Amino acid sequence: MFINGEFVESQTGDWMEIRNPATQQVVSRVPQSTTKELEEAVHSAQLAFAAWKRTSILSRQRKMLDLQHAIRANMDTLARSIVEEQGKVLSDAKGDVMRGLQVVEDMANITNYMQGSKLEVSADMDTYTVREPLGVVAGICPFNFPARLPLWMFPVALATGNTCVLKPSERDPGAAMILAQLCKDVGIPDGVLNIVHGAHQTVDFLTADPRIRAVSFVGGDRAGKHIYERSTQHGKRCQANLGAKNHAIVLPDANKEHALNAITGAAFGAAGQRCMALSVVVLVGDAGAWVDEIVERARALRVDGGLEPDADLGPMITRDALARAEQLVQSAIDDGAQVVLDGRGVHVPKYPNGNFLGPTVIDHATPSMRCYQQEIFGPVLTCVRVSTLDEALELVNNNRYGNGASIFTRSGACARKFQSEIGAGQVGLNVPIPVPLPMFSFTGNRASFLGDTNFYGRSGVNFYTQLKTITSLWRKQDADDRQAAVHMPTLH
Ligand code: NAD
Repeated sequence: MFINGEFVESQTGDWMEIRNPATQQVVSRVPQSTTKELEEAVHSAQLAFAAWKRTSILSRQRKMLDLQHAIRANMDTLARSIVEEQGKVLSDAKGDVMRGLQVVEDMANITNYMQGSKLEVSADMDTYTVREPLGVVAGICPFNFPARLPLWMFPVALATGNTCVLKPSERDPGAAMILAQLCKDVGIPDGVLNIVHGAHQTVDFLTADPRIRAVSFVGGDRAGKHIYERSTQHGKRCQANLGAKNHAIVLPDANKEHALNAITGAAFGAAGQRCMALSVVVLVGDAGAWVDEIVERARALRVDGGLEPDADLGPMITRDALARAEQLVQSAIDDGAQVVLDGRGVHVPKYPNGNFLGPTVIDHATPSMRCYQQEIFGPVLTCVRVSTLDEALELVNNNRYGNGASIFTRSGACARKFQSEIGAGQVGLNVPIPVPLPMFSFTGNRASFLGDTNFYGRSGVNFYTQLKTITSLWRKQDADDRQAAVHMPTLH
C-alpha cells in the first residue's frame, strides 16, 4: 500500500493472487487491507488536507506539470505492468496510459478551472464565488484501464486541493502503485495520495467513513449501484460510471471501408474489454450484406500475448470472465442467432494457458436475446439487421444503457437526425469510440451513469469542489472621510 508517503507492507492474512492472463503465472499478490490500515490511510489523507488545501494554486499546477512529465518518461514501465497484469497488447497499454496522461495535462489548466465569478451587486457591495476543495475523497477503479481510470480520479482531486484515498482494481493494481511512486518522486506531499487495496471490505469502508466527502467509482452495474447507494446514504457526493452496450448504426450510404475498419477495431480492440467498446452493430437495409466483410476483417486480427509484436488482441482478464463470455456466445446459438465467427477455443500456440477468446461475430440477433441484453465485455460483436434509420434509432433508444452510440453515413441529414434523436450520452458521427478528450467530460448517461456530475474536465472539477459565495461591503466613503476627529467623543 501507499500510506502517508510510504510504501508499506500489509499485515493482513488475506491475499489475492494476480495472474498474468496470458500465462496464468502469479505475478503479484494483493492484500485485503486491514481495517487498521484503511483507518491509517484516511487519517493520513485527513491530516495532509489542511496543508495541501493551503498550497498555492500555482504550486499544485506545477505538480501536475511535473507529474505529466514523469508519467511520460515512465510510459514504458507503466504499459508493461499493464500488459503483465491486465493482458492488453503493448500499444494499447500505452494508449491506456496516454488517455490518463491527458487528464493530468488538462489539470495543468487548473488555474482557469478554479476561477470564480464576481459582480458588484449594490453600491460598494460585491458578491463573488471561490471554488474550494471538499476534503478527503475516494476513488474505486475497475480492472480494464489500470492507469487511465486512476488518472481520471486522483489528478483532478489533487489539483483542486483535495487529498485522496484510491483503491485500484484488486485484479491489476500495479500501474496505480507505479503512479504513486511517480507522485512521490515529483514531491507531492505525504498523505495527499494514498493507495489501499482489497475488494468489498475496502469499498464498504470507504463508502461509509464520515471523513470521506466524495466517492468516484467506475466499474460494473452491481458494484456501482451498491457504491452509489451506500455513498449517498452516508451523505457523500458520488459519481459512478457503470456498464454499457454501445451501438453503431450503419447506413448503406456509409463509406464502407472506413465504417467496417472502424467497427472492427472498436469491437475487438482490448479484447472488447472497454466500456466504450462497440458491442452491437445495427445494419440498416442493404448494409446487412456487409456482415461477411466484418467477419473477414475480424478473422484477420491476431490473437496473442500482449508483448508479441503483431498482436491485435490479448487475453481476457480471468478464466471466469472468459467462461461467462463463452456462455453468452452459446446462448446466442440457443436463442436462435447465428454465430458466423466463433472465437471459442482459439489456438494461441505460445500461450496455451491464456484466457483467450478470438474475435466472435453473432449475426441475426434480436433485442430479446441474452447476447444482446447483457454486457459481454469480451471480443464479441453482435449484429442486428433492421430496415430503416427510424427502426435503428428505436432499437438503440430502447436499450437501457447510454454510454456511447455512433452512426456511419455520408448523409449529413441522417447524421443530424441521429445526433438529435439518440439517447446515448457520447455520440459518434463516423467515429466509432466517441470518448471526449479531457477538456470535455465523459458523459455517459441513463443506466451507464449514476450521479449528476461527470468525470474529468469542467464537470470533474465541479465534482471535487464546492462553491463559497462571499458578499462584501467596503464603502468608498469611508476612505473619503478625511475629517480627523480631534475632540473627545461626547455621548451624543
Ligand atoms: P467491477 O464492478 O467488478 O469492479 C469495479 C470495482 O468495484 C473494483 O474495485 C471492485 O473491487 C469493486 N467491487 C466489485 N464488486 C463489488 C461489490 N459487490 N461490492 C463492492 N465493491 C465491489 O468491474 P470490473 O469487472 O473491474 O470492470 C468492468 C466493468 O466496468 C464493465 O461493466 C465496464 O463497462 C465498466 N466500466 C465502465 C466504464 C465507464 O466509464 N462507464 C469504464 C470502464 C469500465
